[in-house]
Amino acid sequence: MDRELLESTLKGLAAIGPRPHGSQANVAALSYIEDELTSLGMTVVSEPFSAPAPQLRADTELLIDGVATDCVPFLESAPGCVDGQLRKAPNCLIWGMHDTEVWRVRARNGDTAIIAVPPFPTAVQQHLPPEFDGVPSVLMSRSDATDRGIDTGTSARVTIATPLLEAQSRCLRAFWGDADPLGDERSEIHPIVVAHIDTVPETPGVYDNAAGVAAALSVAATNTSPGYEILITSGEEEGLAGARAFVRRLGGISRLGRLSAAIVLDGGGRGRIAEAWLSSNLDEKIVRHHVRAITDARNYQAEFRQPAPPASDHAAFIEAGVSAVMFTVNDLDILHTSQDTYEESKLLGSRLLAELAEEFLSFPGTFLSSNHSEQRKVQSHE
Ligand SMILES: [Zn+2]
Repeated sequence: MDRELLESTLKGLAAIGPRPHGSQANVAALSYIEDELTSLGMTVVSEPFSAPAPQLRADTELLIDGVATDCVPFLESAPGCVDGQLRKAPNCLIWGMHDTEVWRVRARNGDTAIIAVPPFPTAVQQHLPPEFDGVPSVLMSRSDATDRGIDTGTSARVTIATPLLEAQSRCLRAFWGDADPLGDERSEIHPIVVAHIDTVPETPGVYDNAAGVAAALSVAATNTSPGYEILITSGEEEGLAGARAFVRRLGGISRLGRLSAAIVLDGGGRGRIAEAWLSSNLDEKIVRHHVRAITDARNYQAEFRQPAPPASDHAAFIEAGVSAVMFTVNDLDILHTSQDTYEESKLLGSRLLAELAEEFLSFPGTFLSSNHSEQRKVQSHE
C-alpha cells in the first residue's frame, strides 16, 4: 500500500473534477492515470469503446403543480415533453436494490412520462429500468417529493429537450513486461484489478471512484511482478459501457478464459463498513476469511452480498462467466452528488480497497477452484 500515491491520486482526480463519459475532463483523467501507470513501469494499452454521453443533454425540466422542481433525466431517457396528471405506478428497483416509487404523467393525448422517486436525499442519475423504455423519464429526490406533496391528480410536466449523443472513449489495461498476457492462449491464468475513472456529471467523484483508481495504482506500486493486470474503465456510469466492451472483445477472441477473476474496486467512502459483493460461483467462506484478515486489522465491519447486485463493473465480468468480487466502502448519502469531495476519511476507504486487492492477489488460488467450469460453459455457447 502506497499512502503517498493514494493521496496524490485522490487529490489529482478531484482537481480534474467531474469526468463523465464524453467530457474533456474524462480524457484528461485517463491521460493522467495512463502516465502514472507507465511511470510505475507497466505496459499500458488502450481498450476503445463508444457509449451515449449524458452530459450533452442539458435542457431537462420538471414542473409539479406549475412549480419548477430539481430533477435529473434517466441516463437513457427518451427526449420529449409530456404535460398531464400524476398516477401512481408500481414501484421499481434501482441498481437491483433500492425500492423506488414511480409516478406516471399522463397527458390528454395519451402520451406518458415517468417520475421516479428513489430513497435518496438528492436525485442522482441512474440507468433506465426496462419498463420505462421509450418515454421521457426523470428522477426527483425523496425530500422534494415530500415537499411538493405529489399525489394522484397533481399536474406535472416533464421536458427533456436534448437527444442522447454517442462519444468515443477508452479503458486502460496495464500489465508487467512486454508480452500481453491476454495475447496468447497459453499465457498464465491471472486476476484483473478493475476500477472506473468516470463520474456522473457534477461530482468530483472522490469516493466514487477516484478511491478505486488510486487503490489500483497503489497495488501496482507495491506488486511489481507479473501475475495480474489492471483495468481502468470508463463509462461505468453509462451502463458499464467500458467493461462490457472489453469483455465482449475478449470473448470474441476467446481470451476470457485467461482471466481467473475480476477484483473490482468501486467506492472508498467515509464509513466503517466494507462490503464484498461476490459472484455466485465464489466460495463465500474463503472470501470471508481473506476479507476479514484485512477488515479486522483496520477496524472495519465486513458485509457480504451474494449474489452481487448488478450495479458496478463486476456485473460485466459475471455476465461473461468470469468470477468477480467487488469491494466498496459504500457512502450512499453522498453518492453521485457534489459533496463527494476530497476528505482524509476517503483516503482510509481507498487504503482499505488497496489492501483488500493485495490480499486477494497474494492468494490467487482463491478464485481458481470455483471458476473454470463456469467459464468453459460460457465459451462453448459462443
Ligand atoms: Zn462507482
